[in-house]
Amino acid sequence: MPLLFHPSSRPGFAVATFAVAGVLAAFIVKRELTPHTQPAALPAAAPNTPQANAPPTEARSSGIVAPGTEYATPWRAVLGTESGPHVVVEAGLHGDEIAGILAVDDLSNRLHLSSGQVTFLPRMNRPACDAGTRSINTDLNLVFPGDFHAPDYEHQLSAHLMRWMGEQRPDVVITLHESRYLYDGKNPKTFGQTVVYGVQPMPDIVSRVLDHANRTAQEPRERFRSNYFPIATSSTEQFVAAYGTLGLCLETWRGLALEARVRRQEDFVFALFDELYQLSVITPRKGVPLATSGTWSALGLGRGCFPCGRTATRSPS
Ligand SMILES: [Zn+2]
Repeated sequence: MPLLFHPSSRPGFAVATFAVAGVLAAFIVKRELTPHTQPAALPAAAPNTPQANAPPTEARSSGIVAPGTEYATPWRAVLGTESGPHVVVEAGLHGDEIAGILAVDDLSNRLHLSSGQVTFLPRMNRPACDAGTRSINTDLNLVFPGDFHAPDYEHQLSAHLMRWMGEQRPDVVITLHESRYLYDGKNPKTFGQTVVYGVQPMPDIVSRVLDHANRTAQEPRERFRSNYFPIATSSTEQFVAAYGTLGLCLETWRGLALEARVRRQEDFVFALFDELYQLSVITPRKGVPLATSGTWSALGLGRGCFPCGRTATRSPS
């Protein structure tokens, strides 16, 4: 389906703005790239025009789904200054699937955008995440669109999340999960290392993001594959049906080390950003070289490929 670009997607709440030009200028200088991804003109070519290469000031916001209730669920957003797609990245729908939670916590701190909006929902089932359990009463992914009057926790929570998502109206929703079983190519219920979609034909963007994300697989088992498996009561499919979003679920395999699972979750999400955004940038963890996603042309530097560059620069955190 075509993505809808809507400049009015930003919520009307107050936002705190901050400049990122200095951070980005620093990263541009430090950034190391593999030869095949190195832009034709790195910052040295334009040292006297830093403003020309600086992205516009972005904004950040945060809020809570169902504030003041036992269903209170925090979210955070990064908003570029230009219009562009709105992506919601969800994790913690199952409270014991930790890689996605860690990936979203990390991404939400380090992402910068020149356009569009990314909203992070790191702990969809907050009490289950706190307890490290899959759910409180019922599997949250089997009860959407939920029921405000149901007796169990997840039915009510899903109704709150459903309403909030309707207010957000994102173009894309991606939900991060984990699976016990590595995909075997035959049984679709072996979800590990797949991107799951529930509509036919497969959205075009899926194959492009897969190609992109799989460039950074460090071993064959880290590669992602597409997996058609509709679940009518899942959050993703309900959001797709009700709000017309593009909906994807990403599943890492728990047989991989946690660091690898977090890395692969981030790789895929950034590959998605690379397909959607003019420019998105990831600032470094302390002592770790920067990695980027997006189109370098926005900085006058030509195009850079985030995953490829990132593999060369990232070290374990
Ligand atoms: Zn899950």
